[in-house]
Amino acid sequence: MEPLLEGSLSEPPGVHTPYTLKVSVNSKQVAIIGGGIVGLATAYRLGERFPGAQIRVLEKEDAVGRHQTGHNSGVLHSGLYYKPGSLRARLAVEGIRQMAEFCRENGIAHEICGKLVVAADETEVPRLRDLEKRGAANGLEGLRWLDGGEMREIEPHVGGVAALRVPQEGIVDYTAVCDTLVAKLSERGARVVTGARVRRLRRLGATWIVETTAGEFAAGFLINCAGLHCDRVAQLAGERRDMRIVPFRGEYYKLRPERQHLVRNLIYPVPDPRFPFLGVHFTRLIHGGVEAGPNAVLAFAREGYRKTDFNARDLADALTYGAFCATIPRCAGTSCGAPSAASYSAVRSNAWCPRSSPPTSIPAAPACAPRPSRPKASWFRTSASLRGPMRCTC
Ligand SMILES: Cc1cc2nc3c(=O)[nH]c(=O)nc-3n(C[C@H](O)[C@H](O)[C@H](O)COP(=O)(O)OP(=O)(O)OC[C@H]3O[C@@H](n4cnc5c(N)ncnc54)[C@H](O)[C@@H]3O)c2cc1C
Repeated sequence: MEPLLEGSLSEPPGVHTPYTLKVSVNSKQVAIIGGGIVGLATAYRLGERFPGAQIRVLEKEDAVGRHQTGHNSGVLHSGLYYKPGSLRARLAVEGIRQMAEFCRENGIAHEICGKLVVAADETEVPRLRDLEKRGAANGLEGLRWLDGGEMREIEPHVGGVAALRVPQEGIVDYTAVCDTLVAKLSERGARVVTGARVRRLRRLGATWIVETTAGEFAAGFLINCAGLHCDRVAQLAGERRDMRIVPFRGEYYKLRPERQHLVRNLIYPVPDPRFPFLGVHFTRLIHGGVEAGPNAVLAFAREGYRKTDFNARDLADALTYGAFCATIPRCAGTSCGAPSAASYSAVRSNAWCPRSSPPTSIPAAPACAPRPSRPKASWFRTSASLRGPMRCTC
């Protein structure tokens, strides 16, 4: 068959990846599995590069962005943390620029408010200095080192000894980003098919037949953007499942309205290098309110947003996955993931205590309330527990 879709899916302008993905497929039908932000953005860029391609996004839920994309903190990250020169770092730095531009052009609610990464005490200062170097090496401009007094000019209720200000970072409505992407895809003739759970993938010559709960679709080219199920979708296509998704639930609280003034924008701890999480942070939300979280708790279901959600297959998958089991001893006895005791207390002392007061002066009323809007469990149950370091249950 004559190649109908040929081209070079290379890096976006300004990003120079070490490789270029050459695309040459014998059909211009492209099926993208998963309607989260990754699937939709992939469809959008692919449509720009190959205007003749027939692009379909197949999403199992009845709307897009129902999983990670619709449950995240809504922060525009800049690539501060990533290893200089890595693909991740370069994509993040370029990505935040492109995302802010996309939001501006399309009137999507967002705000580049900047973020503080706070060293709670002197022991965290060297790691914060490393982050500063990383950020500079990654091309972030305007990074500012702040001493205690300077950081409190920006966040008056922050404690700690020093902070790094990252001016590029901000907050956004990722659900609105997805809705805009869907509208733009439709304008260009791409189809976003919801209620289409991909159940089976089979080959018919050079064509993939995608069997879904909304019928069959033929495609010359498949792109797996299935997020929490990407390993299973890869397996449907005949790939080995060497990598598995192990679900962790992020638990958040919302600050009570009368305490929201304690946090102006984004306050992050210095991450604990032992864990692949950013740490418990305070996030002002684009549509109002302030969240505290997340911690990271092993979830019993990949799409389990409540403590009681359970899926036997998901749990069995995690517990029989050697790579995951090998990490359990690392977590045991620690506040797993983001909330290392030190970084947690950095944020804690900053956000709920007047900075000059001892911890006992934490307001009698809890600063946090369980977040009602999203079905995530809460870990701060009482005002008393606000004072103790957070522990996760893994
Ligand atoms: C707690 C938390 C906080 C975060 N905070 C931020 C943040 O502040 N800023 C930030 O930039 N990033 C944040 N992230 C990361 C970000 O949310 C994810 O990287 C991003 O949403 C991943 O998008 P995705 O499209 O890959 O996955 P998803 O949004 O999960 O989308 C995958 C889609 O695939 C669909 N799907 C799966 N299987 C099938 C199938 N068989 N057939 C059809 N469809 C299928 C799913 O229904 C889903 O809609 C956070 C993540 C978490 C968990």
